[in-house]
Amino acid sequence: MDEAVSPPHTPVWTRAEAVFASMLFVGALAVLAWALVARGSVLPGRDVDVALLFLLYGLFTISIGYQDPEFGYYSFDRVSQVASILVLGALDAAWINGLASLIYPWHRLLKGVPPGNVALASLYNAGLMTLVVLVSGSVYEALGGAVPLSDLSGWSPLLLVLLVVCMQVLNDVGMLLLLWLRRRDLSRFFSGFSYAMELGSGAAAVLVAVVYTASPARVFILLLAVLSVGMLALQRFAAMRQRLEDIVHERTRSLREKTRELEEQAIRDNLTGLFNRRFADQQLVQQVEAARRHGHPFAVALADIDLFKQINDAHSHAAGDLVLKRVAGILRDRCRKTDMVARYGGDEFLLCFPLADAAQALALCEQLRASLEEEDWARAGVTVPVTLSFGVAEYRGESAPEALLARADRDLYAAKDSGRNRIGA
Ligand code: GH3
Ligand code: MG
Repeated sequence: MDEAVSPPHTPVWTRAEAVFASMLFVGALAVLAWALVARGSVLPGRDVDVALLFLLYGLFTISIGYQDPEFGYYSFDRVSQVASILVLGALDAAWINGLASLIYPWHRLLKGVPPGNVALASLYNAGLMTLVVLVSGSVYEALGGAVPLSDLSGWSPLLLVLLVVCMQVLNDVGMLLLLWLRRRDLSRFFSGFSYAMELGSGAAAVLVAVVYTASPARVFILLLAVLSVGMLALQRFAAMRQRLEDIVHERTRSLREKTRELEEQAIRDNLTGLFNRRFADQQLVQQVEAARRHGHPFAVALADIDLFKQINDAHSHAAGDLVLKRVAGILRDRCRKTDMVARYGGDEFLLCFPLADAAQALALCEQLRASLEEEDWARAGVTVPVTLSFGVAEYRGESAPEALLARADRDLYAAKDSGRNRIGA
């Protein structure tokens, strides 16, 4: 039932997986050949048309599969496998269903799946299904299970449950080995749902077998038709569910993306892309708290563009905006990743330097001041000099940032008063 599907996006099988698939197939073929030789014929007393009927039914049930989002690919091939064991016996059921599994994957060539992938999926599925049917069917027969099955008397219900569970366990072992080779997460592999599905398929198969053995051909055909309609409807519902899940998944993804964008916008200043004042204030509270708790040094600086009104007046508000952006870019590029740079007001910026003492903060601000001074503003069309004044303050164990900011502000004004383009501390 859980087939090794190879949709077009599946990577090419690895060497280890290919060896495993080939060994499984060769092993199954050897066991099958040995059993057929021991019996002396391929189909004793059976017509070729019965074998052909079950082969076609097997192909039909494999083809009615659907992709369960959680549990992988499901098809109804267990119905034909169990039914053929109960009508033909384990040995004939094994080669007929093995052949169906060998043939089925080849249609994927039309979907663009590479031939190597198709061939290996074919060998793996055929090998696994042959062994599953042969071993489980032989155990069922050895325990006295009726073939052909015509009623449900005595122990037969128990033996039938045993047959289906045995098939699923063997199937799971084969699948687990392949998934283990593919290094897939196996934690979600076992599910009560898949066993419930197999038991349901087993019940349908028992009905097919009993009706085939004990009822007129017309009733049998009617049953096949009813079952096929049921399977097709289930497949359709599964496809619909999958489409709905895809839509929900896509909507959730785009909503999450939108939320992330909005969250990002809420903490940024539109013009410069720096953090905004609201976010900077929140961060400052946290950084003060961290410095207080761990006793780490911490420093802040307020920086204000000198005579910015003149830049606006000499050029234009738009030119002033460009200067603001450029100053913001320089501050952001020259500071460390762990520093925080925010636009704190019109032409004012707040810089936070975690783990830095006053001397280190002063040195950094001096570098920033010099960078701005060295910038070729004339090339950007700004003829008025663009400089920054700074006020630097070191954290002194206060419980809130206000006093720290007030000291930085006082020093900034001291810098302005003493001629601008300098650092007050
Ligand atoms: P000082 O050296 O004393 O700081 O002089 P200043 O001219 O820079 O004075 P102040 O800092 O008080 O002036 C800030 C000016 O920045 C006032 C305002 O018109 C301008 N401004 C504020 N926000 C923006 C903005 O988003 N774009 C532009 N172009 N100008 C802005
Ligand atoms: Mg200013």
